Amino acid sequence: MSCLRVPVVDVQNDNFRELWPSVLLAVKCCSFVALDTELSGLGARKSLLNQCIEERYKAICSAARTRSILSLGIACFREIPDKAEHTYLSQIYNLTLLCMDEYVIEPQSVQFLVQHGFDFNRQYSQGIPYHKGNDKGEESHGRSPRSLFLEILRAQKPLILHNGLIDLAFLYQCFYAQLPDNLGTFTADLSEMFPAGIYDTKYASEFETRFVASYLEYAYKKCKRENCKRMDTSSKYLSIEFCNYPASMSAHIDYRYCSLTAGSSKADKEAVLLCETFSAYGWCPQGQNCAQSHNIDLIIDEDEKGENQKKRRHRRKRKQNVKAVAEVFLEQDGSPPEKQNCAITQELFTAESNEGLCSIPKENELESTIATMEGEWDCSGDHGTDSERMQEEAAATAAKGKSADTDQEGEERVKRGEGGIHRAGFDAFMTGYIMAYVCMLKQGTSRDAEAGPWLPDCHNKVYLSGKAVPLQIVKSMFSKSSKAHSQKLKLVQGPA
Ligand SMILES: [Zn+2]
Repeated sequence: MSCLRVPVVDVQNDNFRELWPSVLLAVKCCSFVALDTELSGLGARKSLLNQCIEERYKAICSAARTRSILSLGIACFREIPDKAEHTYLSQIYNLTLLCMDEYVIEPQSVQFLVQHGFDFNRQYSQGIPYHKGNDKGEESHGRSPRSLFLEILRAQKPLILHNGLIDLAFLYQCFYAQLPDNLGTFTADLSEMFPAGIYDTKYASEFETRFVASYLEYAYKKCKRENCKRMDTSSKYLSIEFCNYPASMSAHIDYRYCSLTAGSSKADKEAVLLCETFSAYGWCPQGQNCAQSHNIDLIIDEDEKGENQKKRRHRRKRKQNVKAVAEVFLEQDGSPPEKQNCAITQELFTAESNEGLCSIPKENELESTIATMEGEWDCSGDHGTDSERMQEEAAATAAKGKSADTDQEGEERVKRGEGGIHRAGFDAFMTGYIMAYVCMLKQGTSRDAEAGPWLPDCHNKVYLSGKAVPLQIVKSMFSKSSKAHSQKLKLVQGPA
């Protein structure tokens, strides 16, 4: 059965110099670059979700100034010109980093990261050192994480993130300069740092693809499934290729296996109880101890089953169309340090009544874990058409029949591989994959990237948890860029 074998190149202190030229080449030649970070913590969850975006920015700044990036994932996607459209070569790197300045590391973060396979021994012994804040000495010139970040800016490629505001602040503070105090200054700086635009796949998932959920793994797997259906029914589909790395590099490469087909055959046979909390948020307070299934393939199966049932269709439609966003935040207890595994984005999309009244069905289950809840409701208008829905259903039915012959044993092995090690590199890959998929859906051709914004509807829009409008990455008439940034920009624009 079709299975993606995704190579993630491990970059650490003992091979950073050796791999530097290939990382640089990948960044320079790609069509877009997706980044993801793993952090030592986020600080007070409550202030990170402040209704006032300025206040939220202040809280993120304070987190970025006191915490650090533990690992950086870079996924470069290059559209291959002599192949079928939407064929990309993807090169993925996972950099293990070590911040040399003092920083806070939260116990829950350590716990979460260790549970997800993060190796602190390796981080301390093999992390690539860097300093935060403004330039000190030559760190922006040699082969360092900071100079790599400058090279990414120099390459002027579209930057892809998933729920990227926190990533952007941490990247700025750790590899670029001291964060400006003012949000307007920050966005002005960013707009100059990334002239090809910043794209957020959480925003794209919610406002372009309108999947039932938009957390990273859900959106990725959903895109992968939809793409799989397209391979049979349409000439327009996404195709991802990887480098054939030589055997000499095998010690540095971590392969991740991803089945391309759904696990629906299994779901039909046994009644697996899905964790409702995990289904909605991609995160559950019980973590690995949860008695119910956190299997995203089964969760998507369930969602797709719903799409196929007429009875449920109306509800599903409401679910998608009347968007009720309840924003909840967790008082640090057990919430993950992740910015995207919904540590701070707890959204509920539902509408129970036909009158379009918004409600939170899972309130009771969440009550035990949520200390406080703040809600901002946005009931937006109708999205999508029936014809789209019918096409989707037809495709879903077709795919279901196809997946029935999936080798069960192989599937199990694949599942374990996917659920295991949590890595910035693979998250960056998933982020890039979603973008490539959305891009294919939205435009006939992506070859005329020079002509204008690459994906105009998502251009420079960064997702804001609980808000109907994204953060616009622009330089407004009233905001000036920061002094530290202006100095750095000269370095970017000057000779390497
Ligand atoms: Zn659970």
